[in-house]
Amino acid sequence: MGASVLSERFKGGSPYWWEAAPMRAIPETPLPATIDVLVAGGGFAGLSAALTLARAGREVLVLDAQTPGHGASTRNSGFIGSHFRGSYDTLAEKLGPARAAAMLRAGAEAHDYLMILLEREQIACGFNPCGRFTAAHTPEAYDALAIELDRSRKHAGVDGHMLSRAEVATEIDSPIYHGGLVTPRGGSMHPGLYHQGILARVLASGARVQNNTRVEAINKEADGTLSVLTNRGVVKANKVVLATNAYTPRGFAWFSRRIFPITSNVIVTEPVDPARLKKTLPNRRVMIDTRRDPASIRLTPDGTRLQFGGARGIPFTDYAKKALEIREMFIEILPHMADVKIDYCWSGMITYPFDKLPHVGVRDGVYYTMGHCGTGVPMSTYMGHKLALKILGDKDGATPFDDDDAHVFPTRIFYSGGNPWFVPLGARFYHFKDKRDIDRSLRKVGAR
Ligand SMILES: Cc1cc2nc3c(=O)[nH]c(=O)nc-3n(C[C@H](O)[C@H](O)[C@H](O)COP(=O)(O)OP(=O)(O)OC[C@H]3O[C@@H](n4cnc5c(N)ncnc54)[C@H](O)[C@@H]3O)c2cc1C
Repeated sequence: MGASVLSERFKGGSPYWWEAAPMRAIPETPLPATIDVLVAGGGFAGLSAALTLARAGREVLVLDAQTPGHGASTRNSGFIGSHFRGSYDTLAEKLGPARAAAMLRAGAEAHDYLMILLEREQIACGFNPCGRFTAAHTPEAYDALAIELDRSRKHAGVDGHMLSRAEVATEIDSPIYHGGLVTPRGGSMHPGLYHQGILARVLASGARVQNNTRVEAINKEADGTLSVLTNRGVVKANKVVLATNAYTPRGFAWFSRRIFPITSNVIVTEPVDPARLKKTLPNRRVMIDTRRDPASIRLTPDGTRLQFGGARGIPFTDYAKKALEIREMFIEILPHMADVKIDYCWSGMITYPFDKLPHVGVRDGVYYTMGHCGTGVPMSTYMGHKLALKILGDKDGATPFDDDDAHVFPTRIFYSGGNPWFVPLGARFYHFKDKRDIDRSLRKVGAR
């Protein structure tokens, strides 16, 4: 059965997004000896920082170890939300109600900033303001969603409404969910086209961008400047933005010891009959569920295929085999799609810090933003902009995620960075618990 569910066109390892937005080859030019701001990493965070800085008249050089966009920024699912991972009540207990509320609002502001940027820069990336359905995989998860809705309403002005188990089919034709939360704000986009658009604006703004240029070390000189060692020589910079996120090399030990990269995967089906798609996602909203290893479903921007994300955390090399495993999850949610073949499967890396919260700050002259935990399309764009404002000395650069005595960027004594050996173990445990909770909850309501 294995091969028969993958189409003859099956592509493993190459994102669907790269068909419409191939990686851009940028001609190699000599590196300058000095620059005002050097940005390491050409994903959304690095490019967003570069755009704000270049528009403010700063001289900017963006270096990417591969091709800008080669990281998570053109591999993601393209869901646009107004939140980050983290519950208000837990945060309020840890950081106090004011900061917890400010964090909630920052999630909403990140969404709004992305909308403003797309409009201002006229970036056509198929943004669809379809809203989101967050599906509860257990009745307990449903209760937690209702609490989170109450907090988001109160503290961030983000509205929504709950749906019962009986009403789930109005959002997704799946037998496994126990209701959920509809959030009309947010939606979906084509992340490849968004990246292509912001890269074009950065180049047009006068910033320089170079491919295949790896930042290997950053040393602070006696005069306060930074000496940036790359595989193509040394560049002296006044400021450096480290926007390498999950791809941060182990050599940057202070950072890599504070984040663990997690492999995250996506499959895209062959084109499906429009009437079947209409019945599957009647309101064409994106769907994400509440399990520990969340499953996500959306339509591709042209509305012809289904895209599914899930089965995170376990590194692999065989895309065909992985696609079959991910498809099992997909079919459990949408059993009526069992005859539909898979055209694409790819993966990328997201970062989680140990406290599962974004971290922003400056360390030894290096400005960083990391740990957006899978919500980074709006968050990394917004945080890149905020880093640029910090460099420009603008007080609006402050964020509630700035590292300080209360919000410390934590590490663990057992973790030396780069090889998060505990992630596959945790992922297997989470998959087991998710499956057990789903089976148990469905048995309780007589649906299994
Ligand atoms: C499969 C998947 C699905 C996702 N789905 C969603 C979603 O639906 N919605 C959402 O909001 N978020 C999602 N995310 C997360 C989102 O894509 C990321 O948070 C975001 O793209 C991170 O952007 P970034 O610029 O910080 O990092 P990246 O885009 O990862 O860019 C880092 C860059 O740094 C470069 N680099 C690394 N080391 C060096 C070095 N030494 N020198 C120079 N350059 C270097 C890399 O080549 C890379 O280009 C998903 C991620 C994945 C992988």
